[in-house]
Amino acid sequence: MASQKHSKKSKAPARTWLTNAEILTQNETRDAFVGSILIEGDRIAEIVQGKPKAKWTKGRDTKIQDLSGHVLIPGFVQTHVHLCQTLFRHMADDLELLDWLQKRIWKFEAAHTAATLEVSALLGIHELLASGTTTILDMGTVRHTEVLFKTALKTGIRANIGKCLMDHPQHTPANLRDSTKDAVSESVRLFEKWNGRENGRILASFAPRFAVSCTKDLMIQIGKIAAEKKAVIHTHASENQKEVQFVRELTGMENISYLKSVGILGPRSVIAHGVWLSDSDRATLKETGTAITHCPSSNLKLASGIADIVALKKAGVTVALGADGAPCNNSLDAFQEMRLAALLQKPKHGPTAMTAQEAFDLSNREGARALGLLDQIGSLEIGKKADLCALKLDSYETLPPAGRLASSRIGAIIYSGHPGLVRQTWVDGRVVFSHGKQGPKVPGIDPVKLLQKAKKAQAKILKSVESMP
Ligand SMILES: [Zn+2]
Repeated sequence: MASQKHSKKSKAPARTWLTNAEILTQNETRDAFVGSILIEGDRIAEIVQGKPKAKWTKGRDTKIQDLSGHVLIPGFVQTHVHLCQTLFRHMADDLELLDWLQKRIWKFEAAHTAATLEVSALLGIHELLASGTTTILDMGTVRHTEVLFKTALKTGIRANIGKCLMDHPQHTPANLRDSTKDAVSESVRLFEKWNGRENGRILASFAPRFAVSCTKDLMIQIGKIAAEKKAVIHTHASENQKEVQFVRELTGMENISYLKSVGILGPRSVIAHGVWLSDSDRATLKETGTAITHCPSSNLKLASGIADIVALKKAGVTVALGADGAPCNNSLDAFQEMRLAALLQKPKHGPTAMTAQEAFDLSNREGARALGLLDQIGSLEIGKKADLCALKLDSYETLPPAGRLASSRIGAIIYSGHPGLVRQTWVDGRVVFSHGKQGPKVPGIDPVKLLQKAKKAQAKILKSVESMP
């Protein structure tokens, strides 16, 4: 593909025409056609079928990038990831959720320094951008979360990040626990400092980890503050049967009812998992406007179960997708999540229960909707942010058959797609990943040096965990 020149500050040129691409707009009517897109600053300024008129492409500040043979899609939106865990990939395999957390992940997270956290975030963001994900909702970690904001700012990904809240004196380890007061005040400080930065590319949220790790007092305070600030609340719930039982014993209530009673559910709340839900839970999610992030790989690997997405959608609940953390997946690529999301519903509900188009929707429009950003991202439409990626479906397994453009391309993306198809990714009109003649490149990240740093950081964490009581 033709490479795009960067200015020294790696700012996007004022105007770039991406021409001759197959465009899957993912707009309301899912229009798809061969056409051209004009990126102006951070926005999509024009979309036309065919080529742009010659007079539109004049001017020294207008670049033209010929994307013949490429498919342009909205960038993937993943509404549940843990950048802090990327470094722990392959370090916690073949465990169920509570063992996975208590025996491994919490110890690793407690061992993070600001420096190891930065390496973990860079590894995660590199993988996400290179596989077409442009927006994430990140759960943060208990300490040093500011590093995640700084790394997101630097790399160009669109990110909504929250400090992970854990204050329960009995159900969290002492080395990964805040006082309720500190948990709340640091979350608020990060929100005030970071929310809305970079013209809204960086957002902040409030992230109580789950009902088990947080006191009722913390939950109530966070519910009130997030409502006042109109901020996203990001939590986990009803992922695993033991967790559901634990919450029942702790609170005397069902998980979803408990979260509602403490003010955690609402139109800006995003709950990861929702595997073990009753009809009444689903009705509560719908009534409060709470969204669910489906994490199919994680749910399978941690033996949690299979979320009934068909039932959630039937109940009118917004459902989006997320890879969760690298050690429970073990990849961060949206293609695998879309494929599994489509396949897992079919044995119970039939072959058309989750079509390729519906699985595709989860990864863009529905993700944007869950984050309250559908007016900004999630489809390729004039006036929206220029967050998109270019795919090349030219490998034997993805070569599209003859037929209607949209359905044949979407089938290839969902059922045989993989990160190797991604040739370029843009966020806010800036190129944040390209795979040209020189190979794959995320501007500003040297992958060889990053892997060296990752090995050192992993060794440091393992050593630190060995010396823990
Ligand atoms: Zn998670």
